[in-house]
Amino acid sequence: MRISAAVSRPQTPAPVLEALELEGPRRGELLVRIAAAGICHTDLHAHSGRLSPLPIVLGHEGAGHIEAVGEGVEGFARGDAVILSGSSCGACPHCTSGLPSYCDEAMPRNFGGRRPDGSVALATGDGSPIHSHFFGQSSFATYAVVPERTAVRIDSNVPLEVVAPLGCGVLTGAGSVIESLRVGAGSTLAIFGVGAVGLSAVMAARLVGAERIVAIDTNLSRLELARQLGATDGFAANTEDLVDRIREVTGRGMNYTLNTTTHPDVFTSAIDCLAMRGVAAFVTAPRGDWSPHMFKMLSGGRMLRGILGGDAAPRKLIPQLIRYWQQGRFPFDQLVKGYPFEDIGQAFAEVAAGLVIKPVLRMT
Ligand SMILES: [Zn+2]
Ligand SMILES: [Zn+2]
Repeated sequence: MRISAAVSRPQTPAPVLEALELEGPRRGELLVRIAAAGICHTDLHAHSGRLSPLPIVLGHEGAGHIEAVGEGVEGFARGDAVILSGSSCGACPHCTSGLPSYCDEAMPRNFGGRRPDGSVALATGDGSPIHSHFFGQSSFATYAVVPERTAVRIDSNVPLEVVAPLGCGVLTGAGSVIESLRVGAGSTLAIFGVGAVGLSAVMAARLVGAERIVAIDTNLSRLELARQLGATDGFAANTEDLVDRIREVTGRGMNYTLNTTTHPDVFTSAIDCLAMRGVAAFVTAPRGDWSPHMFKMLSGGRMLRGILGGDAAPRKLIPQLIRYWQQGRFPFDQLVKGYPFEDIGQAFAEVAAGLVIKPVLRMT
């Protein structure tokens, strides 16, 4: 079928809309009419060609309706509303224990730009192949074919242009607090970088009853938003003696830190402000060389912990977060700004410049 999709090609500032051919769903796949797709920083990195092969259709926070069901698919029907999350095999030990972001095949399935058998679902009008199946979805498009496991069915009355980011960014922030760190009532957390992931973590920390929630960012307006969403304390990233100031919040340092930034110095600060037996979690890697102060890790029994996808089982946590949102306890819609699909170039530029927290493209 003929679709409209935003294609990432080398040496371009942003994906550009093109008419492409999309093949029908194969065995175990669904054809989804995309209504909305969030833009995440991983899309920006992938657009440069560093993570996935080009040319490719990116997009990994898609939401839409099922248009057709492939052979062998059970549990989905035409018309179902779905949020799309990552791709996983469904058979390895982490998939079967509800941790699909650590699937043995996570990297090729999410970043390989093709199905596990090597095929792609997209081509130009003259038949040149275009990489597909980015995070199992390639949802910067009017339609996508996705593996069944990538789809999470949700209630049909939920606005898709609001909930699309639950597929990655919001899930990562909230899942890091709820599932990975299991932050509980009375515990303390400092969050470095309050973009979409960090602010989702702030809201989740308030939800679970954290006693002190400290937000740190270079952008003062985001610190203000963090306070509105539940942060009890906020510090500009250039605050003098920042680590001491954060430690003073509790008098003995923080139980947890969550680092959403790539700056090597922030990785050091995130460990230095930990209390004894604290955990420093991170969701993105430091740019450039960095190594932890091992004596500090040892002498305080501290831990450094990488997190992918918030350790979430999307089919459990996404519907849960929607219910919290409907109850007014998880107001992540405040992060979202909508754009018509054709304005994807503007949305890419604005999120890269920090002018918008969570852009969501509207395909319909
Ligand atoms: Zn993402
Ligand atoms: Zn697996």
